[in-house]
Amino acid sequence: MRGGQHVGIPFAAIHLAMPMVFVVGWSATAAAVAVGLYAVRALAITVVYHRGLAHRSFRMPRAVQAVGATVATTAGQRGPLWWVGHHRIHHRRTDKDGDPHSPVVAGFWRAHLLWLFDERNQETDPTAVPDLAALPEMRLLDRWHHAVTAGLAAATFLTGVALARFDPALEVNGPQLFVWAFCLSTLALWHSTFAVNSFAHRFGPRRFATDDESRNLWWVAVLTFGEGWHNNHHRFPRSARQGLGRFELDPSWWVIWVMGRVGLADGIRVASSVRIATALTEDRKPPGQRRSRCSASTAAASAVASVPLHPAPRRLA
Ligand SMILES: [Zn+2]
Ligand SMILES: [Zn+2]
Repeated sequence: MRGGQHVGIPFAAIHLAMPMVFVVGWSATAAAVAVGLYAVRALAITVVYHRGLAHRSFRMPRAVQAVGATVATTAGQRGPLWWVGHHRIHHRRTDKDGDPHSPVVAGFWRAHLLWLFDERNQETDPTAVPDLAALPEMRLLDRWHHAVTAGLAAATFLTGVALARFDPALEVNGPQLFVWAFCLSTLALWHSTFAVNSFAHRFGPRRFATDDESRNLWWVAVLTFGEGWHNNHHRFPRSARQGLGRFELDPSWWVIWVMGRVGLADGIRVASSVRIATALTEDRKPPGQRRSRCSASTAAASAVASVPLHPAPRRLA
């Protein structure tokens, strides 16, 4: 089977399943589980796949990292090696040739979802993820990502069957919970994640004059728990906190902060206020008066302050 088809069949099936919401009806239980699974899986994508594994903006105990990556894999966005590998390439080549999903280079719809079906984007470049490829649990998740996602689909159906039998007052059943809690929730999560790659590189203000078209887009930040502050993120990619302004709500950062407080995260990096102020001044200068892009990039890369949140680091992955 060709790679694009391999991705495309489940992708098309879930989109085509959407009219089933009118067939299976609804219940408060099904809607609540759908919202809950959206939130938990969205946070696993942003906190674990993105800020934890792709950017190493904090460290987790290996068991926590494995559990978090398993939850992220149930989101149907493929396994950790593929996700992280393509995201790291996006940061290396942002909005230039070689970026797998740039609306500037290849158009809005290709950046939003069509890039997923390109044969060239099916494989993972092992040189982009040597740290993850060294971990057997990450290789296992990556290889069996379809089974992990299908496991959640089956669990929603079986839970609905069990609830219908043991608590009929909830008015939920197997097909209804499967359609709402798995299909609808996964579809919404796909498109909110995709919006970071498409909308947040095309629409919205730019706080920092980065060498790309990244934007800060509030409604994408709401849907993705903070990932819509994407211009901030491209300026300070190693910062665990992406909402830098007072009203830039960043729930993914709140989760990382809490993880640090309870000993589940360590070595948390955040962009310091001094570095943010320096970047704002430096980026707005005319190119001739600006430090070279190389030195500016170096400054950006180092513009993070390590914030140890507990004194005795646990054994880390
Ligand atoms: Zn981006
Ligand atoms: Zn990133």
